[in-house]
Amino acid sequence: MVTQKKNFAKTKESREQFFWDAVGSRPELREALGQAERIRQFKDEGDYSYAMRHLAADRLVLIGDAARFVDPIFSTGVSIALNSSRFASRDVLAALERGDLSRQAFSAFERTIRLGTKNWYNFISVYYRLNILFTAFVNDPRYRLDVLKLLQGDVYEEQEPPVLARMRSIVSEVEQTPDHIWHELLGELTANAFVDLTQAEAEPVLALV
Ligand SMILES: Cc1cc2nc3c(=O)[nH]c(=O)nc-3n(C[C@H](O)[C@H](O)[C@H](O)COP(=O)(O)OP(=O)(O)OC[C@H]3O[C@@H](n4cnc5c(N)ncnc54)[C@H](O)[C@@H]3O)c2cc1C
Repeated sequence: MVTQKKNFAKTKESREQFFWDAVGSRPELREALGQAERIRQFKDEGDYSYAMRHLAADRLVLIGDAARFVDPIFSTGVSIALNSSRFASRDVLAALERGDLSRQAFSAFERTIRLGTKNWYNFISVYYRLNILFTAFVNDPRYRLDVLKLLQGDVYEEQEPPVLARMRSIVSEVEQTPDHIWHELLGELTANAFVDLTQAEAEPVLALV
């Protein structure tokens, strides 16, 4: 269930009631879900990015949402779905030609997706932490094209695109300088925003708020 925070706050006492009321607006869905077996408690989630620990196994490749989801602020969902298919297909074709469908055969795919989604995640974290930086960088001819490149999802080729490294270092500088003119504009996310989710255990999400 995806909703605005202000709607959810009203019903803080009962996530369960809120969920079923919302689902109830679609009777067919309500009926189908009513027959389903629930496997976890409801919970709310502000950042619903997730990563699977392994993106491939013998004879198996996870692409798109099955592999990874990054906060959707820049339409990463469709971008990652399409790009992961693109990179997976290269390894799948080569694996079929060699007749080797072991996990190892998909390692280039795994590496590329981990790298790209890490860059996406860091880029988005910068946006939430200090979004005035985006206006500044997009208006600066030195960085404009590089920022646009990231925004269009060109994140899979470099360990860390130099423009992203530059943005991250400015965020750190602003965080550590209380009298910086941007300091009071820092968003609620802390430097933990830069935690590497690809190392985290994947948890399927039940309720998204
Ligand atoms: C409310 C909402 C808004 C979103 N807005 C955006 C946005 O603005 N921009 C953006 O980039 N992303 C957005 N996303 C995310 C985006 O939709 C997904 O990240 C993207 O669709 C993932 O693509 P996918 O191919 O991995 O999975 P899906 O698009 O979910 O495709 C999986 C397909 O597999 C089918 N399927 C499942 N099980 C089986 C089975 N057993 N047999 C056969 N078929 C099966 C499903 O029916 C589905 O068609 C949004 C998501 C939601 C929920």
